[in-house]
Amino acid sequence: MGRAVVGVAVGLAAVACTVAAVAVGRRMRSRGKWKRVVRVLREVEEGCESSVGRLRQVVDAMAVEMHAGLASEGGSKLKMLLTYVHNLPNGTEKGTYYALHLGGTNFRVLRVHLHGQQSSLLEHEVERQPIPQHLMTSTSEDLFDFIASSLKEFIEKEGDGSELSLDRRELGFTFSFPVKQMSVSSGILIKWTKGFSIVDMEGIDVPGCLQEALTRKGLDMKVAALVNDTVGTLALGHYHDSDTVASVVVGTGTNACYLERVDAIIKCQGLLTTSGYMVVNMEWGNFWSSHLPRTSYDIDLDSESPNPNDQGFEKMISGMYLGDIVRRVILRMLLESDIIGPISSKLSMPFILRTPMMSAMHEDDSPDLREVARILKDILEIPEVPLKLRKVVVKVCDVVTRRAARLAAAGIVGILKKIGRDGSGGITGGRRSDMKMKRTVVAVEGGLCSSYTLFREYLHEALNEILGEDIAKHVILKVTEDGSGIGAALLAASHSSYNLDTVQML
Ligand code: ADP
Ligand code: MG
Repeated sequence: MGRAVVGVAVGLAAVACTVAAVAVGRRMRSRGKWKRVVRVLREVEEGCESSVGRLRQVVDAMAVEMHAGLASEGGSKLKMLLTYVHNLPNGTEKGTYYALHLGGTNFRVLRVHLHGQQSSLLEHEVERQPIPQHLMTSTSEDLFDFIASSLKEFIEKEGDGSELSLDRRELGFTFSFPVKQMSVSSGILIKWTKGFSIVDMEGIDVPGCLQEALTRKGLDMKVAALVNDTVGTLALGHYHDSDTVASVVVGTGTNACYLERVDAIIKCQGLLTTSGYMVVNMEWGNFWSSHLPRTSYDIDLDSESPNPNDQGFEKMISGMYLGDIVRRVILRMLLESDIIGPISSKLSMPFILRTPMMSAMHEDDSPDLREVARILKDILEIPEVPLKLRKVVVKVCDVVTRRAARLAAAGIVGILKKIGRDGSGGITGGRRSDMKMKRTVVAVEGGLCSSYTLFREYLHEALNEILGEDIAKHVILKVTEDGSGIGAALLAASHSSYNLDTVQML
């Protein structure tokens, strides 16, 4: 009997030891897995490092590339395209003008009523609709007939239009694709992007196609300005505040434009404008510098993209890509650590994690990160992620967005440096004390600036860090809304054919 009791006790002790050993083993393994998670996080943090010193190198590189792009055609990855916009609206414009915007998330038609007073409310009406998928790869005639019909329907809703003399209807056309302009109202498409591919359009005058379609539909309306969306944003910013000298769009893609002295546009000698200035469309999404903090995730994203080695700056900054960089980091983290076991194939699908979802995780302020858990489960099919790991996912979003916003800030300071408004006396240098800093406004627009609070905060923070407080207080980032559309109508007004100011070649 006694022996039996001893036997049971020994047996129980052995079981207890095994259980303990398994538990310790499990804890050690889980600690090992967690270490690997942390290692991937540390690596991505280091790879995305954007100290103010590094940002200043990006600033300098941007200013140098701007010079090179203005010096000769093809002199830089920055195209520095001439826009022939030399007369930014200033609030004195009067009348009713129209705008069309093609190349954003939706196609838009707008009407703007101007009363000639900057401070008066800028009344506008807008209609949005998606471009039917088949028209994106059809013929130019099909696409422009659709656009002209939409405009016609929009105008017919106006009633009899008696307050508007029919022969003076003018239109601004925002066309968010790279264009080589020959004048403010003419330009040829360089290449399609964003899923459009209409072969008979490349090399053809874009406003010409629209003008022909308007005629086919019996619309008596003149295309007064062909503009890029950033130029529209600059126009709206300038309409409200004449200290606005540049604009930046960070939405699906990213781009910037600014007001340049015509004598600095060396690649186009003999250019004369009444104002002495012209807006230059930088196409900054294609900027590249060895100083950009690039990670293996960026390299993979680029090489798997349809346009490798293209739009390098954009791929680190814009809404099209940020979510996918985060997805790639999470994927590597889970694969290398094996912390949650087998993972769903969803996480391997490019672009499944969209930037608005990423920002929702980043800005989740619930104590248990409920939104993070929901998105990981619903979008990436990763159920029951422990809180500790959810916190790491938020940190990854933070690292990726902080880098994006700080690089955009460096780009902005690069522009300010090029035009001598960064307080340093221009690219050739100068003594800060000699400079009197002018109030400088940069209009910013796009989904990330308007809807992603932390992106906007990091943008402001980096601008202050790079410029220093004394200079930064003279630089204002102003978020505009729908400048890409409204601005085109304003430019139709300021470049109206009834206006005598022109661009001349000597
Ligand atoms: P587009 O660039 O097409 O003209 P927008 O400027 O409105 O349009 O930007 C839309 C882009 O902004 C989306 O593709 C998305 O990447 C990003 N975006 C929209 N909403 C948010 C959000 N809440 N958080 C983060 N990014 C957003
Ligand atoms: Mg846009």
